[in-house]
Amino acid sequence: MNHNNTIVTPVMVKVYLQCPRQLWLSYKTWYKPVTQAMVYGKKIHEKIPWNEIAGKIGGSEVKSNVVLESERYGLRGVLDALVRVSEEWRPIEYKHQTVIGRPEKIQTTLYAILVEDTLGRPVTKAYIVTPVRIHHVKITGSLREKALRILEETVEVLEKPLPPLPRPSKLCKTCPFKNYCYI
Ligand code: SF4
Repeated sequence: MNHNNTIVTPVMVKVYLQCPRQLWLSYKTWYKPVTQAMVYGKKIHEKIPWNEIAGKIGGSEVKSNVVLESERYGLRGVLDALVRVSEEWRPIEYKHQTVIGRPEKIQTTLYAILVEDTLGRPVTKAYIVTPVRIHHVKITGSLREKALRILEETVEVLEKPLPPLPRPSKLCKTCPFKNYCYI
């Protein structure tokens, strides 16, 4: 558990990496926007062929919408799917976009840490599935350390009384807070 008992999800850490101000506005204000992209994403998620994806990975069993919680790391989340490859259970995260970057990789690593802490067994690999390909993420010691450090930074932002300054980027165009971010 982090020092101030703030519970964080891997999704929150991904949002922090994309824009710390968006994280703060999303979780510390009353405004909870539901965008078209969110509604569309939910619909797509309901139709993901997990058995087919697990087959491509070489998995023998798959479970979807897995609730995970780690008191030790102050982390909780609902993992898209958990696939069994040989004797190892590995996380799968589904993304609608085709470009996968650092935020998605760190988010998936935190799911791997959650799985390890829940099952008490090491996770050596995780998967990020997009409409066009399956990305294999090797869960190394340094990636774990990086993800836990970023988790701490996320908690620090959430514990601040005021939001971080705006960080204009191409994400602002589709950000649900764009209309009053700069007020
Ligand atoms: S509009 Fe841009 S700077 Fe403001 S919260 Fe959204 S992404 Fe961040």
